[in-house]
Amino acid sequence: MKRFALILDRDGTLIEHVPYLSSPAGVRLLPGVSEALRAAQSSGALLFLHSNQSGVGRGMFEASAVAACNARLIELLGLGPAPFERICVAMEAPDQPSLFRKPSPAFAREVMRDYHLAASQVWYCGDRGSDLETARQAGVRAVGVATGLDDLRMELGELGLAESFPVFASLENAIAHILRETT
Ligand SMILES: [Mg+2]
Repeated sequence: MKRFALILDRDGTLIEHVPYLSSPAGVRLLPGVSEALRAAQSSGALLFLHSNQSGVGRGMFEASAVAACNARLIELLGLGPAPFERICVAMEAPDQPSLFRKPSPAFAREVMRDYHLAASQVWYCGDRGSDLETARQAGVRAVGVATGLDDLRMELGELGLAESFPVFASLENAIAHILRETT
């Protein structure tokens, strides 16, 4: 079985995108997400979470609120207590020095290094242009999901990435594509 990394965005990809979500009560899984992640895991995917949470850097809420929402997400997924190998929360605001804020490729590089994976063994999946731009900067693979608040295809067109990454109507379809391409 192949071993590969699937780096997932959170808001608009795994859960309904509520802007500046800070309450676990507001965490709602998108349809089919748990089943799709389970299928990926059983096909050799190591799951990672990479989420921009500038609400912390902007002083709107604390890092603990993000952690509480992530804990609720994990509870709703029902894939055990630690479905993600690693969770990267980029808390900086756009005007603060970027550490891991997407489109920074820093987290993708960390995953490749620490898990001994080639760029061809790492996939990003997200609902925004910045998710796919992260993959482009890191030189890894990626798919988009049209389950967020914005029109991803239009955003990719503006970034000149429309031809670079496929966009799917659901995470289930996106993961089916990844599994076809990797196994
Ligand atoms: Mg998102």
